[in-house]
Amino acid sequence: MESNRKTRIETRAVHAGHAIDTATGAVAAPIHLSTTFERDAEGGYPHGYVYARSANPTRHALEQGLAALEGGEDAAAFGSGLAAASAILQTLAPGDHLIAPADLYHGLTKLLRDVFIRWGLEVSFVDMTKPEEVKRAVRPRTKLIWVETPSNPLLKITGIARVVEVAHAANALCVCDNTLAPVVQRPLELGADLVMHSTTKYLGGHSDVTGGAAIARVKSDFFERVREIQTTGGAVPSPFDCWLVHRGLQTLPWRMRAHSENALKVATWLADHPRVETVHYPGLASHPGHEIAARQMNAFSGMLSFEVKGGREAALGVAAKTAIFTRATSLGGVESLIEHRASIKGEDPRTPQGLLRLSIGLEHSDDLIEDLAQALS
Ligand code: PLP
Repeated sequence: MESNRKTRIETRAVHAGHAIDTATGAVAAPIHLSTTFERDAEGGYPHGYVYARSANPTRHALEQGLAALEGGEDAAAFGSGLAAASAILQTLAPGDHLIAPADLYHGLTKLLRDVFIRWGLEVSFVDMTKPEEVKRAVRPRTKLIWVETPSNPLLKITGIARVVEVAHAANALCVCDNTLAPVVQRPLELGADLVMHSTTKYLGGHSDVTGGAAIARVKSDFFERVREIQTTGGAVPSPFDCWLVHRGLQTLPWRMRAHSENALKVATWLADHPRVETVHYPGLASHPGHEIAARQMNAFSGMLSFEVKGGREAALGVAAKTAIFTRATSLGGVESLIEHRASIKGEDPRTPQGLLRLSIGLEHSDDLIEDLAQALS
């Protein structure tokens, strides 16, 4: 495996966890389906694997790739993004306090409300873009501050380093959901203790696999507890799913570059359109979080949203007319998607009715712009 620090991210992405198979010389990694592993005559496990829920070579290879990608010391792969989030939250005890963004991903808000708050976790939802508000929310039992930046669907920007400061001053940990901006944003380098991903999105990259990941800056008791919950709770991904995500990682840095380049072109074009009220994209100088984004991101990723003049009906009319953009939820795949977020059950009721969220794919940006032009005509 390539070392974490000696090579650049494109090189790490191609090689981390991808060793040549010593048994066959295969360059593309085999998928290990075995659920159980042979003991030697003395009763030991010479290859280190016992049973697939605890560890499996294909998952282990993915975890090496994930750790190298984010620059962390260790990683744990899960069966979905929310399974990763659940494991992280299960490290807390009833009565502990969590600070989370008011515009947190709606699935995670539901998980907190329906499961963790009922189980005794105390949660404060705050405007995470305002560090003073975060600081004011700290309590003696605050154990964790959860950051999600850019946020969904308004692409608000939280200054990661500033929230890390608040968390560490309170002896709490900072977890950053980096699903929307892998590679282009590196929270562990900004001091976050753990990065979470829905690997269903950019990491898998092809809208064909569900998965999640937790990546630790350092091997700590906290991460050991996440690992323990992964292996004893058992929300682990299948070997094939691990293989797909690991393959996705190999092209991720180049895909993020292209997603970001396309999104900036589309956002810039939309900003000048007479039927568009507002464009939410941190790459635009007009975005309120642009300055912080430009400091903590080296490109602005492929997610944007815009508000159509005329509200709900006008927005639905535009989404109904696109031909290259597919009307579908999710994000981060090679294909462009368009979604009327306010129609999603559980979405924050503050989501503007005229808002359409775009996941900008890898088609040619001129084709995407032409498609939006005809849909807005
Ligand atoms: N975090 C973010 C920012 C997301 O957008 C999603 C899914 O949309 C998740 C977490 C949850 O991931 P999954 O659907 O893989 O459970």
